[in-house]
Amino acid sequence: MGKSSKDKRDIYYRLAKEQGWRARSAFKLLQIDEEFDLFKGVHKAVDLCAAPGSWSQVLTKKLNENRVNDESPPKIVAVDLQAMAPLEGVIQIQGDITKSSTAEQIISYFEGELADLVVCDGAPDVTGLHDMDEYIQAQLLLSALNITTHILRPGGTFVAKIFRGKDVTLLYAQLKVFFPVVTCSKPRSSRNSSIEAFVVCQNYTPPEGYTPTMANPLMDFSYGPENELLGVNRVIVPFVACGDLSGFDSDKTYPLEGESLDPLQPPISAPYKTAISLKQQNFYNKVP
Ligand code: SAM
Repeated sequence: MGKSSKDKRDIYYRLAKEQGWRARSAFKLLQIDEEFDLFKGVHKAVDLCAAPGSWSQVLTKKLNENRVNDESPPKIVAVDLQAMAPLEGVIQIQGDITKSSTAEQIISYFEGELADLVVCDGAPDVTGLHDMDEYIQAQLLLSALNITTHILRPGGTFVAKIFRGKDVTLLYAQLKVFFPVVTCSKPRSSRNSSIEAFVVCQNYTPPEGYTPTMANPLMDFSYGPENELLGVNRVIVPFVACGDLSGFDSDKTYPLEGESLDPLQPPISAPYKTAISLKQQNFYNKVP
């Protein structure tokens, strides 16, 4: 979250810096919570695709607020491809959630215990090719779901970013296999112009006899038109807008009042640094 001309445009980006969140995404989780009371009774949580860490900050704050006197501190495990600056009380893993080695590492931290809540704000680097972006996003969500089937307690909640593309009903159908209540929610801080939304999957109830497996059978599905879901298999889930609808609009421009603040947590090893270094070495001009 840098300091740029965008400061003048994005109210949630500025509010995040003012309130000490590492990213504007914090408001998305907070606004989803306003609607779904996500953190009630939650003591152990996993934050998938967590960097730079604003959702982990929200989890730390909320789970500690909910803690009763002599209860042990909450357990929060955060995972991302990117390095993330330390956060007190958060166990961090740097890894790819689509790899079974990362999934196994997460599971090992729970030592046989189960999480109450798994959240995933994972997003691939978008290419602008919508079909491709939606496909990769869906694969990320299914990887998150696969990890979730290993570590979520029955009755637990799974929240994940979703792109509402044309194959979204297939994802809803896959989620419905594990969760009787699936809602698509759009927080106020998520731009209307973005196809991003969040699935809130409640009351984890794996099918009888389901054994979680790292082979990820969820992903072994051909997305061709021959497999389009029709009739009763076409799942439509409720859509809920979250957050104060008379509050700040993330698509609107608000004037900058006062000084622009410095970023709270600059990236540790931003991928663009490699690109800048390659550009300085004239690398791109050499590529045929
Ligand atoms: N929720 C975060 C926060 O509040 O600070 C922001 C998450 S950011 C929108 C998306 C993150 O997904 C990026 O940090 C990216 O590195 C991560 N990501 C994308 N693909 C991943 C993968 N395969 N495994 C782990 N992390 C991944």
